[in-house]
Amino acid sequence: MLAYEYQADGVLRLVERPDPVADEGELVVEVAACGICGTDLKIARGEHRLYPPGTVRVPGHEAVGIVTQNRSGQERFTPGTRVAIAPNIACTRCRPCRRGLGNLCENYTSVGLTFDGGFAERVRIPAAGVAAGNVLVVPDGLDLATAALTEPIAAVVRGLRPLQVGPEDTLLVCGAGPIGLIALLVAKHRGVGRVIVSQTSAPRRELAAHLGADVTLDPRAGDLAEQVRDHTDGAGADAIVVATPVGEVFADALRAAAKGGRVNFFAGLPSGRGVVGLDANLVHYGELVVTGSTANTNADNREALDLLAAVPEVFAPLLTGSYPIEQAGAAFEAAKAGENLKVLLTGPAAS
Ligand SMILES: [Zn+2]
Ligand SMILES: [Zn+2]
Repeated sequence: MLAYEYQADGVLRLVERPDPVADEGELVVEVAACGICGTDLKIARGEHRLYPPGTVRVPGHEAVGIVTQNRSGQERFTPGTRVAIAPNIACTRCRPCRRGLGNLCENYTSVGLTFDGGFAERVRIPAAGVAAGNVLVVPDGLDLATAALTEPIAAVVRGLRPLQVGPEDTLLVCGAGPIGLIALLVAKHRGVGRVIVSQTSAPRRELAAHLGADVTLDPRAGDLAEQVRDHTDGAGADAIVVATPVGEVFADALRAAAKGGRVNFFAGLPSGRGVVGLDANLVHYGELVVTGSTANTNADNREALDLLAAVPEVFAPLLTGSYPIEQAGAAFEAAKAGENLKVLLTGPAAS
């Protein structure tokens, strides 16, 4: 089969590989589509900690497809079943796992990060992942290309959960990359009162407005917190998602928050650059709730898949490019280009 493989010299290349064979407890899934995300671009730059020098592995953690081999013992995965793969396999035994925080598992493995992933014609799902519920059956009526958005939506669903946004709230989204725009779409779909999107690039602001942002603003046009207050009768934003890896935005977000506001630090900062100056008094006197979120659990993925199945049209505009695996290099170039949101690599199970 064809696979887009990260090779020992730190370069991704299209290669011919033996077809995977399911062992006891495992599945093999023929890939329909696999999204390219920021994590993959980081791998391609040789900067991902799980891809140290010398690694030979196939990335791709946003895969959907059709089961071709089922040795799981579970009838619901009979060959031909359409599935989405939640990539993060939790051990189910460590302390975070026992507390329902499988995304923080101490013995974490992951399809596309620690095992071969979905940038290939077929992908093997380890027994631990099948047993832990990482393989989700795609509901009838939801096309597989759209289902490939499950994982990034799961991450956003997780980040938004502690913010408890509702119709009375103004949500500020900092950063209109795919994650920020998904946050906008999920929030509008759920009836959040107003969504303000802050983004430096003008075309991205236009896109955010097109996708339903009530207000867009340029954080370089003036102080972010002041601009947000100008648009909220001086109150500030009730909920804030920081979805851009720029240190000063984390501090600005606290200043933009309304009394009793909830803030999610969705983005991570480059390692060693996480120490940023935050005014603790803003949290104290404003009774702010500051949360973080990282990756996602299988439950988050199920929630995301249900959301996609209910309103696929809401999220379809995020799919801006689709390339067969033979054109993986071009697909990665497209994914790097600023005008694209989600670019898919497609495999033999597409359509
Ligand atoms: Zn991803
Ligand atoms: Zn664990």
